[in-house]
Amino acid sequence: MTRSHATPPAQSAEPRWRRVRQWLQGSEAWAEDLLQHLGLDHPPVDPFEVARRLDIRIVPSLLLSNLGEAHISGDEAVIRLHQDDAPLRQRFTVAHELAHILLHPAGTYGRPRPGAAAASQELEANRFAASLLMPAHWVDTVASQAARDDAPTPERIQRVASTFRTSPEATTRRLRELGWLRR
Ligand SMILES: [Zn+2]
Repeated sequence: MTRSHATPPAQSAEPRWRRVRQWLQGSEAWAEDLLQHLGLDHPPVDPFEVARRLDIRIVPSLLLSNLGEAHISGDEAVIRLHQDDAPLRQRFTVAHELAHILLHPAGTYGRPRPGAAAASQELEANRFAASLLMPAHWVDTVASQAARDDAPTPERIQRVASTFRTSPEATTRRLRELGWLRR
């Protein structure tokens, strides 16, 4: 799929300023730029492959108390991933940890940490992960096709989820965010 600046869907329950604000805040634009930089131009995006191309090591672990952790030290960036987690959630976790490595100061992420700064970084990492796995203009293409076919809502969600290889929960959140589902 090509890069384009899709307008939010006509039946959007979301005001346009909200989507534009999210774009300006960075996560959407950063994710799109990264995909373009890596030459990844259609779904599903493989976050493991993104990490590999960026020289980021992924280490499966059974010992994590979190779903995943990102660790940056010197030139080395490592993502530790809970190896027993469900595949779709692992994909989201890797995309989330990529955000910490690419956007946030060096350190270790993933352990629960108090404080507003950590909370906002977690939100930003989630937004980046959703944007990387489900870029807005690609979702628009798939969702608008399902809308044209007059598919019932669960089927629309499923169609998007299987195209992007994302969980039903993450897909539903993303479709709401982009104005394809009412809140
Ligand atoms: Zn995190």
